[in-house]
Amino acid sequence: MHLRSAAPSIAVAIGVFVIAAACTPGDSLDSISTATTATSTTEVPTTTEPSTSTTEAPTTTDTEPAAPQLSAAELGTGGDVLFPGLGNRGHDALHYSIDLDLTGEELAATATITLQATEALDTFHLDLVGMTVDAITVDGEPAPFERDERELIIFPSSPLAAGDEFEVVVAYRGTPAPLDDAAGPFALGWQTRPWGTFVASEPTGAATWFPGNDHPTDKATFDIDITVPEGVAAAAPGRLVAQDTGPDGATTYRWASEHPMATYLVSVATGPFSITSDPGPDGVEIRHAVLTSREVELLADLESTIPILEWMTDRFGPYPFDTYGVLTIPDSIPFALENQTLSLFGADFIDFGGDFADQIEVHELAHHWFGNLVSPAQWQDIWLNEGFATWAEYAWAEEQGFGDFDELATEAPFFGEMGPLREVTPTTLFDAKVYFRGGLGVEALRRTVGDAVFDEIVQAWLTRHADSAATTDDFLTIVDEIGGDEAGALMRSWIDDPEMPPLPPRP
Ligand SMILES: [Zn+2]
Repeated sequence: MHLRSAAPSIAVAIGVFVIAAACTPGDSLDSISTATTATSTTEVPTTTEPSTSTTEAPTTTDTEPAAPQLSAAELGTGGDVLFPGLGNRGHDALHYSIDLDLTGEELAATATITLQATEALDTFHLDLVGMTVDAITVDGEPAPFERDERELIIFPSSPLAAGDEFEVVVAYRGTPAPLDDAAGPFALGWQTRPWGTFVASEPTGAATWFPGNDHPTDKATFDIDITVPEGVAAAAPGRLVAQDTGPDGATTYRWASEHPMATYLVSVATGPFSITSDPGPDGVEIRHAVLTSREVELLADLESTIPILEWMTDRFGPYPFDTYGVLTIPDSIPFALENQTLSLFGADFIDFGGDFADQIEVHELAHHWFGNLVSPAQWQDIWLNEGFATWAEYAWAEEQGFGDFDELATEAPFFGEMGPLREVTPTTLFDAKVYFRGGLGVEALRRTVGDAVFDEIVQAWLTRHADSAATTDDFLTIVDEIGGDEAGALMRSWIDDPEMPPLPPRP
């Protein structure tokens, strides 16, 4: 995400932050779930531990438990320190097939989700906010369900064993309501406008429009079919594999994403758009969705996409997905967002043209390596997204002759406090420090280790954690391994010191 103005926001200590303060990023899911269990009113199922000795403490590894072991509170958390309600435990989402019909008064939808049980389960959770759920089946059998805030609690007709792959079909409908969530600079999730719809979910909005395991640690592939009335176009991530128009003029746009995607990066847009398809470098399809009424001028401004993609490929390696493009919506929005393969921009943002618009395009495209290919394993690691995207932005601007990291180091404190990078709360996730101290920290590393070692560190990060999620500590492990002790110490001070360190001089 790129904010138009990095105004300092007020840190508000809320209940969730107590959990954050009690957990370090290296904490296991078990210790996090202990924290969340404590706030639950649901009892943890008791089990009789087999004991082979009267002198040793009982262990759970002696025999495989026959009964499901996760409590309701544990099933309902993905283990995020800042947002315990995001995601779920006990299963791994493999594929989503989402069918959206926008031809009626409200959205009518079916989500078919292939999941794999990672534990024995007699019940399991998905995340869904609002909407009316009409029916659920698990492997074709009707399954009762309950709703509790963002938890959709499903009771399969027969228990699932660890390792079982199973298919859940959720039929649901309604008008998705965006979350008025302080985590974002804007209401999050599915947005309905007079001209159509779009999606801006980071970090918590995906559950406003589809049921899923809503945490970046659980990526999956997606097929999204969108049926819209005559005269309306529908865009989504990946490739447009078919476009079928029925006798009533309604058209179903079928989009497929073969590369795994985090839920917060999944998007749909419907409205007065022209969808382009052009060959780009290295077989990447360049696919924009631009306002039809301004197609010529917007596409002229977006001609910079290919040179920016080439510049980035030179630095970070092959573009990780099949297709890339920009969605321009008619509204003025206070940010741009790196929705996977279809970055979201207000058309007025593109209208700035020239270097400024290009710089923000660099930022959103850089996220496709930093954030989309390798995602934050905890939302408090978001500086790994924003720091690298900001670094790419300024590295590109320096090459164009108008940006300067040393000037940025001087100016950064005027944009807000520049405290430790992992000290963020649900309401300060997008604070200026995450961008500027994060980006300057990356530049400090480059200046300290030199370009060759820096490139090696970046490549190790992108290959080791590709299509997955990783933490700040995972990044530090790579810096230690490849950059050595001095680099590791420097990076730790940039991440954790109370004050932002000085930027080392250029080598
Ligand atoms: Zn960003």
